[in-house]
Amino acid sequence: MTEDYELVIIGAGAAGLTAGIYGVRYGLKTVVMEMGAPGGQTAIAPWVENFPGIKHISGMELIQGIIEHAEEYVEIKTGQYVKEIERHEDFIILKTDNVEYKTRAIIFATGAAHRRLGVPGESEFGGRGVSFCATCDGFFFKGKKVAVVGGGDSALVEAIYLASLDCEMYVIHRRDELRASKRLQEQYAEAGGEVVWDSVVEEIKGNKVVQELALLNKKTGEKSTLPVDGVFISIGIVPNSRLAKEFGVELDGNGYISVDRSMRTNIPMVYAAGDVSGGVKQTIVACGEGAVAALSAYEDVRRPPHLSK
Ligand code: NAP
Repeated sequence: MTEDYELVIIGAGAAGLTAGIYGVRYGLKTVVMEMGAPGGQTAIAPWVENFPGIKHISGMELIQGIIEHAEEYVEIKTGQYVKEIERHEDFIILKTDNVEYKTRAIIFATGAAHRRLGVPGESEFGGRGVSFCATCDGFFFKGKKVAVVGGGDSALVEAIYLASLDCEMYVIHRRDELRASKRLQEQYAEAGGEVVWDSVVEEIKGNKVVQELALLNKKTGEKSTLPVDGVFISIGIVPNSRLAKEFGVELDGNGYISVDRSMRTNIPMVYAAGDVSGGVKQTIVACGEGAVAALSAYEDVRRPPHLSK
């Protein structure tokens, strides 16, 4: 079975959903395809305080509003795993297990996944004390002793959230200076959290569940252990760009899709938006990039560059 569209958006996070709203409003026959559930990284943010017009909101509530808004305009197909994309002269075919989608244009809004530490115990204790999402799992650690690994905005947001659940908090950072914004550093200090400086986790140990972290101080070479009930790993993200790469889309040195200011990639009629295209990773930026990508798709579908020259 083949379904016909003018614009297919892969990924239903903030970027893809916004692109969906804009695509339909520009009059393109548009669909948003999502492998799992809609929401992306915004859904797991404990809170968001820098989305203009909304002073404080949970990530889930913010993205739920965007999902509901998008649903007013565009069809969001969930559980759609795109296996392969084929380029033809005037159209593109996307193949899932049971459906083929024929389209003029695609926007990759495939987001990013959590970076892993790659140390012993990380996989073994997954769901048994090792977590990548405080919003999802924090409640299980209420009042307990917990570490967050990482020094960026995400690590601090997670740590502040866990502190609000009365956890005894330790942020473990590999340098002597946090990457996170000053405001978040202040909030974490106000919440009474500690930072273990210059240190990396060498192993996550336990018996059925996590019990302690083996740490190495990179400056002094000193090894130590930190007894904890849980560890949240928040050391950045890696772009979900494999599908785009297999299709021939150019990536930068860090695996993000290379785009110009109009979110066009190296392949005509193919665009990218949100975390997968690198740059500033914020919900507001993902929304903006989704809007720009949809506008570019509209311009190219309605007036293909090779015809307008
Ligand atoms: P990030 O900014 O890339 O920070 C990753 C942190 O993890 C860095 O402190 C890094 O250390 C550390 N790290 C990386 N690899 C490591 C390893 N193998 N072992 C130990 N530590 C490691 O990632 P993020 O915090 O997930 O944030 C992603 C993006 O989302 C950023 O652009 C951020 O600004 C944005 N964000 C914004 C907000 C907000 O505005 N409220 C909230 C969340 C996220 P080094 O510092 O030494 O490199």
